Order: sequence, then structure tokens, then C-alpha cells
Amino acid sequence: MSKAILVLNAGSSSIKFTVFDRAGGALAVRYNGQIEGIGTRPRFKVRDGAGAVAHEDAWENPPLGRGHAHALEMLAAWLDPHLPEEGLIGVGHRVVHGGPTYSAPTVIDDGVLRDLESFVPLAPLHQPANLAGIGATLDFLPGVPNVACFDTAFHRSHPKVADIYGLPGEYYDEGVRRYGFHGLSYEYIARALPELAPELAGGKVVVAHLGNGSSMCAISAGHSVDSTMGFTALDGLPMGTRSGQIDPGVLLYLMQEKGMGAKQIEDLLYKRSGLLGISGVSNDMRNLEASDDPRAAEAIDYYVFRIVRETGALAASMGGIDGLVFTAGIGENAAGIRRRVCEGLAWLGLALDPAANAAHGPRISAPGSRLAAYVIPTDEERMIALHTLAALAG
Ligand code: ADP
Repeated sequence: MSKAILVLNAGSSSIKFTVFDRAGGALAVRYNGQIEGIGTRPRFKVRDGAGAVAHEDAWENPPLGRGHAHALEMLAAWLDPHLPEEGLIGVGHRVVHGGPTYSAPTVIDDGVLRDLESFVPLAPLHQPANLAGIGATLDFLPGVPNVACFDTAFHRSHPKVADIYGLPGEYYDEGVRRYGFHGLSYEYIARALPELAPELAGGKVVVAHLGNGSSMCAISAGHSVDSTMGFTALDGLPMGTRSGQIDPGVLLYLMQEKGMGAKQIEDLLYKRSGLLGISGVSNDMRNLEASDDPRAAEAIDYYVFRIVRETGALAASMGGIDGLVFTAGIGENAAGIRRRVCEGLAWLGLALDPAANAAHGPRISAPGSRLAAYVIPTDEERMIALHTLAALAG
């Protein structure tokens, strides 16, 4: 029997993949890579398990209108001679939306595929890319089982009060709910707590997943009870290019006074807002930190302000807080952002250890701090691989 698993994370402008070897009880990375810039100037890069570059390619003129299809063909062509001869145990797919129904990883069959297609209106920018990845795998790896792992699933443990909006009930019934996202990342962190932060594992923890997409989650005794993202991945914190929480009255104003249509508003909220929109400089935290433009400083100020504010809100949702965990690109690397967030939470009894923070943890709170703070690198691909193994064994 083969010992490898392929994990595919097909997003709106990038496709990431990892090939894991199952060695005994552990999962070791064989290859890890991505195709970025789909639809514009795709670049393909693969590293081996030791981090050495195994392959690099770029396309100046990709076939028009076939962005994802072209990228998936290039990926399949590279993977073909690089997969183990015995084949794969299975393929695990990151799927952004499991709708109200899917609360666990699921082996994909025709019925599941139809359900996932029916969730496209809930995540119009991401679900089609996920489905393209599944379709391509069914074509180029016939007979290999596929497992859908949902970004929403970990949040299905929310109490109903955390999932409803103040709208007539029929909207909830047809699916207008606060789903929450980044669930695979939060689940990975929740599972890592007993080993890395044992004093927090059974407690009340706020996890801040701070990447290009940013959200936060209230985890009580290992279960999600609330999160900052809602019906879509637009809500909550400001992000690289997404607005985060906004008064719905602003949308009415844009429609009524500016004559903006749905597509223009979608473009504004998803692609031209957040850190990029406020700063006018960049969506990338490294560029903002390096900039001396006062608008870049304002974007960072707003980002930190919202993280501090949401920590208070999530703590209230749980009726207390024992610890805070930072993860993802900004959370794992931007010591200055972490320092400012922790300073903003001094009133909760959080005292930072500056040297530990500069060294990126893992524990960054000072001895004696009432609130513990940690940096824990997330690994959504590994979480998907573990889910895939479990779903196929089950
Ligand atoms: P995605 O949501 O695309 O997976 P990541 O988790 O990779 O995003 O995070 C990307 C963000 O992390 C970018 O804003 C990037 O600037 C930021 N980042 C990465 N490394 C650093 C660093 N050393 N200092 C500050 N920000 C960083």
C-alpha cells in the first residue's frame, strides 16, 4: 500500500500543494509547492522536504480565460513523475465552504460534489477554485479517493446565538449564518495546545490567525465557540485587501448615493480595502512596516486596534480568557505587531516578555503574566492530511 498523501489548496489566485509521506506514525513532507499569480503571470515553485528548490517555472502569456485549468494541468504534469510509484492513499482538498450541513471532513462522491457546488453562492470567489481543484484531481488521478476538508467545519460547535444575525428567521433557515472560516488552522492550533501550551489546552483561548486573510477564534476547552468571520470571509478584522467589519449602512450609501452595483462593491470590499485601501501603499505587512508614509502607519494602527478590540469581544463570548495565540504569516513573524497587541491587552493582565517575543516564542508572555501568550506556527496542510487519513480509514 502506498504511503503518500497529496494535499491540494486551490485558491482564487494560487494553488498550493503538499505531498506527505507517511513514515510510521508521522507525516513527512516530500514536496511542497505553489503556483501563484493565476490569471496574470503564473509562477510555479516546488521545494523538497529539506526546503531545497526542486522546480521553478513561470509563464508570461498563459492561455487567456483558462487560468485555473492551465495551472492545474501544469501541476498535474509535474506531479505525474514525482508521485510514488505505488500511487497515493488519497487526496485531501481544502474546501472553503461546507454550508450548514458539513461539520466534518467528507469523502467526495457525486452527491457531495453536487452539495459543494450548491454552496458556490456562499463563497463565489473561493468555492469555484476549490471545485476546479477537485475536478482536475478526478481527471488526472482516477480511482484515487478525494476528501473535502472544510474551513467552516471547526466552527459548527458554535452556540446558535453566535451564528445568527438580527434578520428575520427565514434568512437563517436558507443559510444566512455566521459560518466562520480558517477552521483548519484553528483546529491545528487547538490540537497542538496540549503539547505546546498544556496550561491552555483545557482553558479559554483566543487564537489570532493573522495572514493575508485574518480572523480570530474563541476556543473553549478545544472547541470553537465564536469567531470574527461570519457569513463570508469579509467580516471581522481588516485584511490585506478585504475591509473586515463594516456598517451595512455604508453599502446602502454606496448603492444609493454612488450608484455602485454588486460587482463594484464586491471588488471594493474584497480587493481594494483593508491594509491596501487604508494605506494606499500595499497589502503586505512587510511593506507597510518598511514604509514611512503616514497612511501605512494608520493602516497598521487600525489593524492592531481591531485585533485588541476583537480579543475583548471574544473573551466576553467565552466568559473569560486564559491565553492568546498568534499564528499565520503576520502572527508568526511580525514581532512589532504582536508587541503592540499585547500592550493593548495589558488591562487584561497580559505582560509581554520582549526577548521571547523578538525570538518568536513559543511562549512570549512574561513569567507571572495573568494571561499567557504564545506564537504557534499553523499547518493547515498537515491538518488536511491528518483528516484525509482519518476519513479514509473510517
Ligand atoms: P495567506 O493568508 O495568503 O496564507 P500568510 O499567512 O502567508 O497569508 O501571511 C501573509 C502576510 O504575512 C503578509 O502580510 C506578509 O507581509 C506577512 N509577513 C510574512 N513575514 C513577515 C515578517 N517577517 N514581518 C511582517 N510580516 C510578515
